[in-house]
Amino acid sequence: MRSLISLFLGFILLSCSSHDPQVDYTLSWRGDGLGVSISLESRKDTFMFTYGSDAGGQTDQMSWIQHFNVTRGDVLIDSASRSFAVVPADGGAEFSYVVRCTLPDDYGSPGGCLMDMFRPDIDEKMMFSRTENIFLLPASKEDADAQVSVTWESAPPYPVFCLYNPDGGTSGFKGKVSDISFSVMAGDPLLTVDTVVINGHENYLVTALRKNAEENKSALKPFFRTFYSSITAFWEEKYEAPYSLLIFPFRNNTFEVTGNGFANGFVSRYDATADTILTQNRRDVFTHEMGHKWLNNGTVWFAEGFNEMQTGYQLVASGLEKPDYFAHYFNHALSGLQRNPYKNVPGEKAEDRFWDDGDYTWLLYWRGFCYAFHLAGLFEKATGIPNAWRPMMQAVKPFLADFSADKFIDAMAEFIDRDLLEKDYRKYIVEGRDFDFLPENMPSGCRIIRHADGTPELLITDSIAFSKHFN
Ligand SMILES: [Zn+2]
Repeated sequence: MRSLISLFLGFILLSCSSHDPQVDYTLSWRGDGLGVSISLESRKDTFMFTYGSDAGGQTDQMSWIQHFNVTRGDVLIDSASRSFAVVPADGGAEFSYVVRCTLPDDYGSPGGCLMDMFRPDIDEKMMFSRTENIFLLPASKEDADAQVSVTWESAPPYPVFCLYNPDGGTSGFKGKVSDISFSVMAGDPLLTVDTVVINGHENYLVTALRKNAEENKSALKPFFRTFYSSITAFWEEKYEAPYSLLIFPFRNNTFEVTGNGFANGFVSRYDATADTILTQNRRDVFTHEMGHKWLNNGTVWFAEGFNEMQTGYQLVASGLEKPDYFAHYFNHALSGLQRNPYKNVPGEKAEDRFWDDGDYTWLLYWRGFCYAFHLAGLFEKATGIPNAWRPMMQAVKPFLADFSADKFIDAMAEFIDRDLLEKDYRKYIVEGRDFDFLPENMPSGCRIIRHADGTPELLITDSIAFSKHFN
């Protein structure tokens, strides 16, 4: 009898956990903000939600949440940590709020956009928001697979594109917490969604072009096709879902371009007065953001620095550029690192201070890029494979979603001497010392010289040998 009871209890617990928790979001347009109603089903005593992030060095996120109202259960708010402790009543809770935030109309100093990329801009003329600034999201990693639904009760008076629901706009969405937690939505009277067929599969180009719409789309589509098919071939990735390029203007900011990569697309914001979207600089940013589909986890030196290496590599491997463009791209990082006032700051401190100012933000991009290039040289030397970047990244691919420096060293130690790997990792990444770029360890066909003022420069010494890195 006892075993029957415990079996029966086990069945009840199992049947609860299959629907539990469930978070239903209902969105409603308020003219100058977005209303959010949340209905939670959970058997937990306390269910934790979080709002927004500190990306861009923001500190005022909680001021965007207005008219917070609880109709079932209890909610305890800790503003300092942006956390919401929800205490369900009889397995459920219901509460609502309005997200209200616009970017300033007037910029004293054009270009101060780092923070604006991460902030909502919502009114009757347009909207842009990362989803973490709309939805209160379950805070616990164990709830990443919990069921969610999003329903729009009323939508803004213009088309809205939701990256988590790229085929569906403001129609209903059902999925998991992880589908909506790292995503973006944008709306605009000029918003268009163009289908771009790549290798027989549909993907999307989403724009709201102020100028030369047809010319700009005609330039963006072949770039998208060429680059995306090249990088998916690099990663040997099968098509699973549409990928979306969301290229969306800032309201008033005249910053040339900034971007943010996601698993199923990227968003890039740019100066709305631009005539030509696909300038070299914007193209390189779009390229970098596409790279984040794969390199998006772990430490900054890897996610950003190795993604910069991937950008330079793939621009050449895709045929969009010649090998000397890689040298040009790398030299930008090399001289940027040399001039950076924090160039020898230890890695941990650099990660901690990432948003403190632009020099800290860029430091690990460039340090990581130099480290990636250095390792490609060691890899080539150890294996004799000139196109070292590709097998290096294939060795890292199995743990991209769960990257750690230890796993990385283990994977590289299959090819490169472990003592040397550990010594270099400590020296360049942990301690932040200057790169030696010893001639005997460089990728073939190039060397690094130093100008009289100390500025280093990568020179291609054998263009045939150098071009083999990108085959
Ligand atoms: Zn990036």
